[in-house]
Amino acid sequence: MVTDVPVWVQLVYLAAAICFVLALKGLSSPGTARRGNLLGAGAAVVATAVVFFERDLDHVVPILVAIAVGSVVGVVGSRRVQMTQMPQLVALFNGVGGGAAALVALLELHELVGSAVPAVVLVATVFTVLVGSVSFAGSVVTFAKLQELMTTRPVVFPGLPVAFVVALVGAVVLGALVVADPVVWVGVVIAVLGLVVGVLLVLPVGGADVPIVISLLNAFTGLTVAAGGYVLGNTLLLVAGTLVGASGTLLTVMMARGMGRSVTNTLFGALKGGSTLGAGEASDRPVRSANAEDVAIMLGYADRVIVVPGYGLAVAQAQHTLRELVEVLAARGTTVDYAIHPVAGRMPGHMNVLLAEAQVPYEQLREMDDVNGEFPQADVVLVVGANDVVNPAARTSPGAPIYGMPILDADQGRQVVFMKRSMRPGFAGIENELLFEPRTTLLFGDAKEQMGKLLNAVKAL
Ligand code: NDP
Repeated sequence: MVTDVPVWVQLVYLAAAICFVLALKGLSSPGTARRGNLLGAGAAVVATAVVFFERDLDHVVPILVAIAVGSVVGVVGSRRVQMTQMPQLVALFNGVGGGAAALVALLELHELVGSAVPAVVLVATVFTVLVGSVSFAGSVVTFAKLQELMTTRPVVFPGLPVAFVVALVGAVVLGALVVADPVVWVGVVIAVLGLVVGVLLVLPVGGADVPIVISLLNAFTGLTVAAGGYVLGNTLLLVAGTLVGASGTLLTVMMARGMGRSVTNTLFGALKGGSTLGAGEASDRPVRSANAEDVAIMLGYADRVIVVPGYGLAVAQAQHTLRELVEVLAARGTTVDYAIHPVAGRMPGHMNVLLAEAQVPYEQLREMDDVNGEFPQADVVLVVGANDVVNPAARTSPGAPIYGMPILDADQGRQVVFMKRSMRPGFAGIENELLFEPRTTLLFGDAKEQMGKLLNAVKAL
């Protein structure tokens, strides 16, 4: 434990902590997000560098090598990742943070053995080992789900709840033993039990709820880091971890609310047999389809169009062509808005970021609650690569994984056009009855390619 921190270091830590708070404030609005991010990252770099000047460090070369390797992996990974893969990246980074905190706490436990330390420090150490391991293993499973390395559907097997409770209770009991009498190998067993708890916690969560779990694990990592800061006597870690823990908890609750579920229901709903997730296969029921020219005529006659963008728009990178199409329609006198669902895409705010990047004016982006009442007046609802966020099963099918999630009322539109490549379902893996309604038309194909054809056809009207 380090307690003799020089005053100048404490002042640098205080400044860094203030920068972290300002960074979070900056991240709350798109206009200031970049600056906020840079401020937070800059403060983290300064706080890391200070450690090298604060006191004589052992093993400086391996530490520098580790930092270099971590930096290269981080920079290359972040630059290469597609925007649609961002949640996976966040899951991975979060897991690494939790795992690192757990390892540091294990090493610290090794140091603490045999010395007289207050019980509260040992409690914090055990907490860091356990929750850090949960966060690491849980994040690896969320990564595997999002990257589709494993099924995105809830995985439930007989005995899972029992195994979960046994592992958790076992870890807590062993934790109490370590606090009474610190032994390193018991700490290692706690870490292993933590890994088991992490895996069993996330396996039953269905794909559509995975983002909520990432946010929850992120809050766990924050709390782990805060406890680690306490163990190491490092105030900055304590502050930074608390900020992450608090903001992660708030985000978790807000996202769960956005999906119309409680956090407990998100985590444990599948265990109660609540999920009736569909087979996730393409339907062969008949639908009405049309080509780009036919859809252009529908749009050409419309006075009011509402565009519903979704994950497929991001995959196809069709946002620029879509923006052009909307501009051409507006120039023809059509009123067009974009209806933004809070969980459209694969990360919170995904559609706002995507459309802002394509220079769509903010005032055209309408939030769900604001725009929902206007769907009955829409002559055409153009659904571009979205599915779950307009699936009426959220209202009508108790037991469906998205049941209770507020949706965009696209089914209230006079005509609905879906742009998608096939009859495969969306992320939640369930069929969308709206695709089979008589007023629905499907424009099959990659959204970018079809959007280009649609744009040309509307221009030619
Ligand atoms: P969905 O995943 O429900 O649907 C996307 C649709 O896009 C699919 O029907 C797919 O059909 C189509 N599509 C995919 N690629 C293309 C392409 N290149 N061109 C045209 N169409 C394409 O997306 P939504 O945005 O409606 O809903 C988001 C879902 O993701 C929700 O279930 C949400 O809970 C979940 N989620 C949200 C996160 C968030 O934080 N926003 C994070 C993780 C998950 P086809 O294959 O036939 O082309």
